[in-house]
Order: sequence, then C-alpha cells, then structure tokens
Amino acid sequence: MDTEERPKNFIRTFIDEDLASGRYKGVATRFPPEPNGYLHIGHAKSICLNFGLARDYGGHTNLRFDDTNPAKEDVEYVDSIQEDVRWLGFSWDDRLYYASDYFERLYECAERLILSGDAFVCDLSPEEMRAYRGTLTEPGKDSPYRGRSAQESLDLFRRMRAGEFPEGSRSLRARIDMASPNINMRDPAVYRIKKAEHHRTGSKWVIYPMYDYAHCVSDAIEGITHSICTLEFEDHRPLYDWFLEKLAWPQPRPRQIEFARLNLEYTMMSKRRLLQLVKDGRVEGWDDPRLPTVAAIRRRGFTPSSIRLFCERIGVAKKDSWIEIDWLEKAARDDLNPSVRRVMAVLDPVRAVIENLPEGYEERIPAPYFPDEPERMGSRELILTREIFIEREDFMIEPVKGFLRLSPGREVRLRWAAYLKCVGYETDSAGNVTLLRCELTQEPAGVDAKGKTVRPNIIHWVPAGLSLPATVRLYDRLFKVPRPSGEDLDSELNPESLVVRANARLEPSLTGLSPWDRFQFERLGYFMVDPVSGAGGPAPVFNRIVSLKDGWARGGRGPQAAQARKGR
Ligand code: ATP
Ligand code: MG
Repeated sequence: MDTEERPKNFIRTFIDEDLASGRYKGVATRFPPEPNGYLHIGHAKSICLNFGLARDYGGHTNLRFDDTNPAKEDVEYVDSIQEDVRWLGFSWDDRLYYASDYFERLYECAERLILSGDAFVCDLSPEEMRAYRGTLTEPGKDSPYRGRSAQESLDLFRRMRAGEFPEGSRSLRARIDMASPNINMRDPAVYRIKKAEHHRTGSKWVIYPMYDYAHCVSDAIEGITHSICTLEFEDHRPLYDWFLEKLAWPQPRPRQIEFARLNLEYTMMSKRRLLQLVKDGRVEGWDDPRLPTVAAIRRRGFTPSSIRLFCERIGVAKKDSWIEIDWLEKAARDDLNPSVRRVMAVLDPVRAVIENLPEGYEERIPAPYFPDEPERMGSRELILTREIFIEREDFMIEPVKGFLRLSPGREVRLRWAAYLKCVGYETDSAGNVTLLRCELTQEPAGVDAKGKTVRPNIIHWVPAGLSLPATVRLYDRLFKVPRPSGEDLDSELNPESLVVRANARLEPSLTGLSPWDRFQFERLGYFMVDPVSGAGGPAPVFNRIVSLKDGWARGGRGPQAAQARKGR
C-alpha cells in the first residue's frame, strides 16, 4: 500500500462530524456500478474513495450492481467489474449485492408510497410527461392523473406488474411538486414498464424501478452510512432524502455526499463513447492499452498501487475539473522506480561494427540492475562484442546543434562500457544508414571550438549477435486534443497512439520472460511483457507503460511543477 499521508478532505470532515455527533456508529460505503460496460479510471477513483474511507474508518464497503436497467446490462460486465475491483486491491468480502436482490422489497415500498398518497399511476406517455415537466424557468403542469385515488393507482400498479399494459403506456410517479424549482422533484417516475429479459431475474419482472428510487432504498436496506456519488447527483439529493422520509425509514438513514468526477485529459470517461471506440474497431477491444479502462490500464502494465497512488494524490474536490495525464504518468513512475530492474533494449536498431575489436571478441561486464542500490536487486552480465546495435536516433550524419550523441568523427559513451567513436557509415540507395563503422576508445571526450570539454552522452546498446528479438508497442495518448468531445473522432484521435517496433533487440540476460514481467529499458521508459500476447512466441511482446520523462509538461504544468511551486 502507498505510504503517503492521506489528506483531509471534505468527505472525511463530514464523516468525522457524523461520528462525533453520534449519527452513525461506524462507516459503511458502497461501490454501485451499473453492469453496462467496463470500469474506467474514473470508477477507480470512486473505488479507491469508497473502499479507502471504509478501510481508514474501520468500516466496510459493499459491492452492489445497480442492475435496474435490463436492456443494457450483461454478465460479461458483472465479471469484469469484480476482477477490476479485486485487482485494485480491495475486497467486499461476502457483501456482493445486486439492486435486483431488492426488487420485491422495492415493489412493496412502492405500494406503501401509493397507499400514503405519495405516488400515483400516470397514463401520460413519456413524451407527454416531458412536455408537462416544464423547464428551468417555467414550472411544470400537473398530470391529469395526479388526483387518482390510492385504490385505483394500487390496482393499476398491480396490473402493471402483471404485464397487462404495453411499455410506455403507464408509469408510477412520485407525487411531490410540479412547480418545484428542482426539476428532479417534479413528480419523478418511480417505476416504468419494460418488457426485457433481465440477466438475473429473467422475465419475472416487467416493471423496473428508476435509479433515484432504487438507489436510496438499496442504500438504506444495506445500512449504508455514506452514499458517495458524483456531482451531477447533487440536485437529486432532495429526492434521495424524500423517498426515505416518505417511507418513514428508520434512522439513521444514509447520507448522500457528492464529489467531482474524474476527467482525465487526452482521454474520455463516457462508457457510451468507450463502447463506440471498441465497436467501431478504433481500438482493439476493452483492454486495448490505449483506453482508460481498468482492464486496459492493467494490461498496459500499470500496477494497482500506482493507480491507488494517483487517486490519493488527485484527491477529491467539490468542483468539476480536468486532471492532467502527467499525474497518472508521474504516479506510475514513482511507483515503478524503486521496484523495477533497469536493463537495455534497442527499439530501432542500427548495426555498429567496432573495428578495433577482434572477431569473436566477448567482454563480460557486470552491471547492477539498480545502480542506486546495487545490493538490493543484484546484477547481470552484459556482453560487449565486435558488432553491437544502437538506437537509430542516437546517430546523425550531420548533427544538428545540441545533438551530443554519435556522428562521424564524434564519440559517445556506451552505458557500462567505454567510449565509442564513429569513423564511418554506410547507407542504402535511399540514404538510410545501414551500418556504422566505429572504434572503441578509452580516451576522454574531445574539446569544442571554444576549448570547452565536450562530455558525450551515454547511449544504450546490445550485442548484435547475442541480443534477443522482441516486439515493443509504444503507446501514446489516445487523443491528440486535451479535452476531446468524442464528436469527431477522425480529427480528435491521435493517429500515433500506437507505434509498433517489431525489430527491437533485448540484452542477452532477458531470457525466460513471463507475462507481467516489468523492466525499465534504460533511457526509454517502463515496459511490461504483454499478458495477452505473452512471452511464449518467437519474440516476446512488450507494452510501454510510460516513458521516463514527461515530454509534454516541461512548460511547468505537471505534478512535478505543481509540487515545485508548493516548495516541496
Ligand atoms: P452510466 O452513465 O452508465 O451511469 P457511470 O459512469 O455513472 O455511467 P456507474 O456504473 O453508474 O457508471 O458508476 C459507478 C460509480 O462510479 C458511481 O458511483 C459513479 O458516481 C462513479 N463514477 C463513474 N464515473 C466516474 C468518474 N469519472 N469519476 C469518479 N467517479 C465516477
Ligand atoms: Mg451511473
């Protein structure tokens, strides 16, 4: 678990007050996903918040599927959601519930609302209901059925349940106030007719409770103390409380608290839009590592602790905002840095022949996996041979200003080895460099025109003949605009969100790899053996989790800059 200090936030303040006043004796929260899609990192925030609060207050968290809308729900999602919550490191123990567990209870409560005069059966069509609802500036109009007697409504409601009426012909509505400034209070629907197969209750029900009704009653049934939801439900809170009040639910009733949902730049959180990306083949499935789904994040190589760290750091707010993606990347680096071995891989190799080494030369060079603490992670041997591969972009025929890597007549330092000087190169007919002719030199670097010592950069390398093949997938942001609308995917999607390096070469020590193995490839970033493609084929497939430095935020907008500004 992360060890960062947990910041006080307004939710914790509320809970402290509620415990101090004796309103509740403990803390019970719930995570209530609708099984209509895969969880994304916004849900992860909600999971970390709900389970984290319960953990810190010695309470518990229920996992409750909000399965009140049979048309869009699926067991595939039920399974993936459980896997994702577990992966994030949280447990609901034996408290796995479904709103559909409460259908009978919810139905009985609805009859009580009818009998107390707080609900009535309305025969307006959905379109008419909308027209009667009014607007933000105009009050609504009473339904002509609002005055129906409780007995008549009860009879109709029972016949709705029995399937006597077609979909959309009738609904059960709360009798509140059509002139309320809060539109949610204008006689909202409580039940609607829907003749759809439900993934758990089959065809038993043809009427289904609305979210606002089902949610508060489910919370109350489970003895939830703090029902934490996103900001758009703030205006629904009066309704949440109204239902429990009218049902004379015994105290203590659950308290709804809203927080700002996570919006993460360069991606999007809408389940509907994510589904669209998957369906249209814009990505390769729900676990495509470019997506913000938990399944994708896991497959890409993020650790659960890095996601928890990210959620902890971004905190909770009462106002909607966008979080820069650097926060996620920084959390990943901070989490991986102390635990991941550094090795060398060349993603886009070009061959360099070291002409002053004899054929068959093999020099074994011990190199620690973690230079800062060599004892902790041990070391392996590198093998320097006459032919090596270096990164194509580490060589320039005509170096531009500021390029301190290899070019004709210049030197670089080979990581863990000596200096390499380029004495010539060969190209194909198209001008692509095919071979570098080099020499090893123990000499220090040269001096520039002004007589200043030029310290060559250090580059990574692998021995050509002994290196191992690999495919490396470089993932980048899914969208090229920070706050995509999702309206115009062709112009908003980043065409370079996936670049595949099919001819990458790994240092010889990287044999016997397993899926989920993580490494830092020096200078390149953090990588993980893809759990789907695996390590078994002729060449292992690696996913880049995150690059080493945030190339975008140098302007000072990212978390590092923010922390620097705070003087930390
Ligand atoms: P839907 O439109 O299908 O309701 P949803 O994203 O609200 O989509 P739910 O399955 O209802 O999905 O969400 C489960 C829980 O996750 C809810 O409590 C919701 O508030 C929370 N949640 C959803 N999206 C985010 C987000 N971006 N940030 C934080 N919490 C979120
Ligand atoms: Mg929802």
